[in-house]
This record gives sequence, C-alpha cells and structure tokens, in this order.
Amino acid sequence: MKLLSSRELYRGPIFWVTEDHAKDPGGFEIHRAIVRHGGSSVMMPVDDRRRILMVRQYRLPARASLWELPAGRLDPGEKPLTTAKRELQEETGYRARRWKKLISFYPSPGFVSEKMTIFLATDLTAGEAKPMDDERIECRWFSAKQVEQMIHSNKIQDGKTIIGYFVWKNGKH
Ligand SMILES: [Mg+2]
Repeated sequence: MKLLSSRELYRGPIFWVTEDHAKDPGGFEIHRAIVRHGGSSVMMPVDDRRRILMVRQYRLPARASLWELPAGRLDPGEKPLTTAKRELQEETGYRARRWKKLISFYPSPGFVSEKMTIFLATDLTAGEAKPMDDERIECRWFSAKQVEQMIHSNKIQDGKTIIGYFVWKNGKH
C-alpha cells in the first residue's frame, strides 16, 4: 500500500493521532484515523520458585485497578531491552541479570500503531522502586497457578499479561 497522505489531528505526551489515506496498485483504498505510539516493553519477572511479579494500578480507560505485568513506553530511538531494564527498576525496584525476549505483537492493529515486546526477566535482585509522579503502583508475587486462575476467572483483564503468561508457560523457559 502506498501512503498518499497523513494529517496530524492531535498530539499529546503519550501518543498522537493521524488521519491517513493509502492506496494499493489495484486501486483499493484505506482511510483511517490512527493512534500513533512509539512502542512499549513488557517485563515478566519470574523468580527461582516460578513465581511471577505483577503490578496493580488504576487504569482510567478501564475505570478499574488492574493486575498487569510491569511495562513502559520506549523513549524515542530506544531499544526495547533498554526500556525493559529501566522500567522494571522504576516500577518494581527489581533488577534482572538475565533477559530473554518472549514475543512481540500489535495489541490493537486496527487503529493503534503500538508494538509491544515482552521480555522474561530472571536472576532478580530487589531494590527500591522509583515510580513517576503520575504512577501509584502496588507490586505482588503470584504463583503461576494463581496467575492462570486469575486469567480464567477474569481477574486479570490485561491483554499483554495474558499473552506473556501463556507464551512463557508454553515455551521452554
Ligand atoms: Mg508502566
């Protein structure tokens, strides 16, 4: 598809919105408003007892406090692993000596350009969290069984967390 035009409709600190028009050689056209986002890293901290560290924070779009894997936005030009290391420490205080990419995916490709990359973080050492001013984050360790039960009982409703858990569980980690 060839991009014929892209017009900015909104620009904010976390994302911007464009209205795009594209056409393929056969004449098929797409007009769409797109939420532009620089991408995110998601961290899945697992300890030597196979417990998983999750964070809970109030999510205004969901109008609820959600349990999630910790995550954060990429700074411009930043590699996803660099973001993952910084955000894990900021949100939870933990540092990991071992990192492994589990998967990357588009959480909502119909209208959002954001790509997420999930990293397994192991060989962990605890430290002090440094949350941002607009973040209030509670951290807690859960057994793998608890996480799976929370997914099936709809107590975990965050997509990246569900994807991360099953990719980890079904892989050889
Ligand atoms: Mg975050």
